[in-house]
Amino acid sequence: MSNTSLAGKVALVTGGSRGIGRAIVQKLASLGAKVAFVYASNQQSADELVEAEVAAGHEVFALKCDVAKKEEVDKVVEQVLEKWERVDILVNNAGIIRDGLVATMKPEQWQAVIDTNLTGVFNFCQACTRPMMSQRFGRVVNMSSVSADFSNPGQANYAASKAGIEGLTRCMATELAKRNITVNAVAPGFIETDMTVAVVNAAGEQIKKSIPMKRLGRPEDIAGAVAFLVGDDGSYITGQVLKVDGGLTLGGMG
Ligand code: NAP
Repeated sequence: MSNTSLAGKVALVTGGSRGIGRAIVQKLASLGAKVAFVYASNQQSADELVEAEVAAGHEVFALKCDVAKKEEVDKVVEQVLEKWERVDILVNNAGIIRDGLVATMKPEQWQAVIDTNLTGVFNFCQACTRPMMSQRFGRVVNMSSVSADFSNPGQANYAASKAGIEGLTRCMATELAKRNITVNAVAPGFIETDMTVAVVNAAGEQIKKSIPMKRLGRPEDIAGAVAFLVGDDGSYITGQVLKVDGGLTLGGMG
């Protein structure tokens, strides 16, 4: 994966306080980007990350924001532009699960997942692509999932949100390519984070057996793919979905 310097670049990462987003913040900052990240409610995790990054000499700050709320998103982007005058890289990583079978899924379970996972991506894309268009430079990475086209019972809301992200990604890529803005998605397999802790505790060994590489993914595996797509080495790639899943979706027997 790329180790291109991101010096001078300004990055905005959603859901940066924990899990995959945290590793993305760390990776982009280590490559020299100035990084702002948003989180929903876990201020302690956000503060700890900022403190560690600043101590390492990186420019990182955090803002509390619900990605589903357009007014809050617009305010965050305004604050980043006020501070650093540009936004080069947007990583839409924030996401939630509210699993349940369609037959019994509550409307709130459906809506919460669509609002956060899909509308949240739209909100940040809309707010960030305007400055990116005037800069004539931008790199957008949206966090999908192998669940977009690899089905599990009980995840209709999540699968629909991630399939929606992939459609949005391809459409935006065609709209923005001539402005030197690339838009791609990364689709992780099973990654060890708070989101997967329950299923890993219940069936971790069985899951590992189903993955050709025989291990779960680490948040850093996803952060490396994001760094590749936003760095110079990824500059001619747009509208793609990069699966990072240890071979999980290859459909092999063993
Ligand atoms: P996680 O550990 O549960 O962390 C989720 C992050 O999103 C946290 O920073 C959380 O903030 C933030 N967040 C949640 N709702 C938000 C909202 N409404 N507004 C702003 N921030 C919000 O999740 P993860 O496993 O790292 O997953 C990150 C992304 O990867 C998600 O989009 C997920 O769907 C995708 N993904 C994960 C896996 C996996 O195996 N883990 C596989 C495929 C795809 P707080 O800390 O404040 O709660």
